[in-house]
Amino acid sequence: MKGDYSLLHELNGNKENWKIKARVTRLWDVYNLKNRDFMSLDMVLLDEQGNHIHARIKDAFVHQFRESLQEGNIYYIRNFGVIPYQNDYKIVTNEHSIKFYATTIVKPAGSDNLSIPKYKFEFVPFEHLSGRCDKNVHLTDVIGRVSTIFPVYENDKNGKPLKRRIIKIEDKRKRKIQITLWGDLAESITEDACMDRSKSTILIITSTTVKSFKNQLSLSSTYATKVYISLDYQQDYIHWDCEEVVKNKRTIHEIIKFLEQSKSQEAIFYCMAVVKKVNAENGWHYISCTNCHKKAKTIGSTFWCKGCKKGFSSPTRRYRLELRVEDESGSTIFVVFDKEAEKIVRIPATQVYTTEIKDEDDDEDVVPKPIKNLLGKTYMFQIKINPNNIFTTKQNFTAIHVFEDHAYKQLHHEQEEKNQILPLKRAIDVDVEIEREVPKAKRNG
Ligand SMILES: [Zn+2]
Repeated sequence: MKGDYSLLHELNGNKENWKIKARVTRLWDVYNLKNRDFMSLDMVLLDEQGNHIHARIKDAFVHQFRESLQEGNIYYIRNFGVIPYQNDYKIVTNEHSIKFYATTIVKPAGSDNLSIPKYKFEFVPFEHLSGRCDKNVHLTDVIGRVSTIFPVYENDKNGKPLKRRIIKIEDKRKRKIQITLWGDLAESITEDACMDRSKSTILIITSTTVKSFKNQLSLSSTYATKVYISLDYQQDYIHWDCEEVVKNKRTIHEIIKFLEQSKSQEAIFYCMAVVKKVNAENGWHYISCTNCHKKAKTIGSTFWCKGCKKGFSSPTRRYRLELRVEDESGSTIFVVFDKEAEKIVRIPATQVYTTEIKDEDDDEDVVPKPIKNLLGKTYMFQIKINPNNIFTTKQNFTAIHVFEDHAYKQLHHEQEEKNQILPLKRAIDVDVEIEREVPKAKRNG
């Protein structure tokens, strides 16, 4: 049952007495680029379905809201305007944006509600950045591994000191991109942060502009830019490879046919499909050994792992979701496990169990609400086919990774622009600086 508020995808310009519940995932001040006058307090709001929208409070009303809004917290927001999102430099993908009125009401709803994700990004793969070069339609989110960090450089701009730092990040295929962080952001990441960690540093940088400098693409931070260091997004970074997706994309029909024709061959395919049903006959989760993550046996009120020959009392529950999926060619079942399922449900299985399952008897065949949220949504599934897929009872495939579809749609959209010749344009005045390589030995621990 949904609360007495609307979801972000339901908003339209037809009325003004909307009420929403959303997390302020990003919050920033906007200044006029020419005279540096304060213009507005802007934010990205994110709801429980993982949709986000750009909201703006004009300077005249900001004093009313400044104290009550904090980045990361969740609020009920009432009485605001919903307008077409026609700005240049769009922060997020949405047809609408929100404008606050003097009469808009903001009430805190806590910060720890796990049903609303903390972050959402719209990563653009490096090979598609050229399609955004010198265009003002979207600002660009990127993710990558830090390869080089330059020292902070300070010079005078119109009589005022201006700091900047250049960093280079690389993607899975070691393609590098240069990013300039301006002002205080220059100090949001330090050499120490990159070198002290035992693992390599993954950076997420949001809302950048893409320019071309000396025939090289270069990103630049904006007022809206946020920098995140080593969030739990390594998974996406490591597995998302667009060229591979395009090459190995198949319909459900093609996957089934492949299996029929070459039963002993292993293959990895990508398939975009809509979730039509969550099969619950076999349950939606399993109790796992706290040691080896394998399925454990329930004995009365305790649990036993055959492999580890160990008993334990408080189990970790992990997802095993049987999703009935469909595309234009047919229908089948994709089985999604554990962390991949958690990525799309957005709540750990143990928590869904403790908050949604009141009665032990419900456990087996009832699909809890957070999982029902998947119905009707489109995902890109990475499917592994192996000889064991020869079905005994029921046709199903294991999805080893699941991606949200917006990333793929965006990829597709920008595909056309990919190969166009870029106008050569001098961008920002980057001075030659001494490169400071992150020592490799230290980086790899
Ligand atoms: Zn075990």
